[in-house]
Amino acid sequence: MPRLEINLKKIRHNTRELVKRLGSYGISVSGVTKAVLGMPEIANTLLASGVIELADSRIENIQRMKLASVKSNMSLIRSPMKSQAAMIVEYVDTSLNTELDVISELSKAAGAIGRKHSVILMVELGDLREGIMPEDLENVVRSTLKFPNIILKGIGANLACRCGIEPDKQNMGQLSAIADSIDNTFGIILSVVSGGNSSNLNWVFEGEGTGRINNLRLGESILLGREPLHRQKISGLHTDAVLLVAEVIESKRKPSLPWGKIAETAFGFAPVPLNRNKNVPQAIIALGQMDTDPEGLTPPIGINIIGSSSDHLVVASDQEWLPVGREVTFQVNYSALIRAMISPFVTKDVKDE
Ligand SMILES: *Cc1c(COP(=O)(O)O)cnc(C)c1O
Repeated sequence: MPRLEINLKKIRHNTRELVKRLGSYGISVSGVTKAVLGMPEIANTLLASGVIELADSRIENIQRMKLASVKSNMSLIRSPMKSQAAMIVEYVDTSLNTELDVISELSKAAGAIGRKHSVILMVELGDLREGIMPEDLENVVRSTLKFPNIILKGIGANLACRCGIEPDKQNMGQLSAIADSIDNTFGIILSVVSGGNSSNLNWVFEGEGTGRINNLRLGESILLGREPLHRQKISGLHTDAVLLVAEVIESKRKPSLPWGKIAETAFGFAPVPLNRNKNVPQAIIALGQMDTDPEGLTPPIGINIIGSSSDHLVVASDQEWLPVGREVTFQVNYSALIRAMISPFVTKDVKDE
């Protein structure tokens, strides 16, 4: 079976480093567990490494962690579904919100079980995914403060996820200014200003000041050791904390070019292979679209991915003959990681060494 090898020791190191480096800027870390479906061993590793809370986009993952007795404040980082309000106030302490209709429902549901629910209002800063337009925020805050069972904990923003807009001095400065203005207008103190995700790291470490931002929600940088804007390695972090291993099931010399009339494959038109005018060693690995995103795999040096389908990954390796039964280890990007985590065909192998 293909397997994800998850190294808790490396995840612990990455988390501690990021918590320490951001701590020197007065920024706390919420550990985002969505890419690992709230896997309890990883959740506990993040908590033991200094994150202040766990954050996930899916209520199911938060339930999974609660059922496994993971002890933490839980944040829901996708706007709650109105229809799930009752479940959310039961399992989630804080949710990121943009709709008064939803907050109203959360207030009712919290009241029904005698609880208070905390919210962070998300502000649109240009990436055009979730967020309240800045000019509308004051009215939304005014209404939010009136709900009996809602605590307004702070404001936040999210960039780089839909349109790839970089967090910078300008948009982060705007978020700080908005926090100041809300505090002044309402005579309150927004205790959390959550600036964004792993793509905010470059802006923080450029060192030109972080203003009111005192929290980031980090997933990819912890798990993969890279910043998402240019996918550069973050110095001192492990980029191989999670690896994907699969087995060779065919190994033969074959022509470099296919023969016959070419039409579409199951996944559209395939790139035409390079003509190398000779037979070349090609191997098939038991790994495909059903297991991961083949485009997001980095093979070992000397091995090239030359094709993929639902269940097969075709590789060429000139230097080394890959015998049937040999295991090959790939690095994964975010897309390959989440697809492999979700796939029932991929074993999750957690080790701590
Ligand atoms: C996924 C997500 C994050 C974490 O993003 P990473 O790039 O994995 O650090 C943070 N905030 C929100 C709202 C998200 O959806």
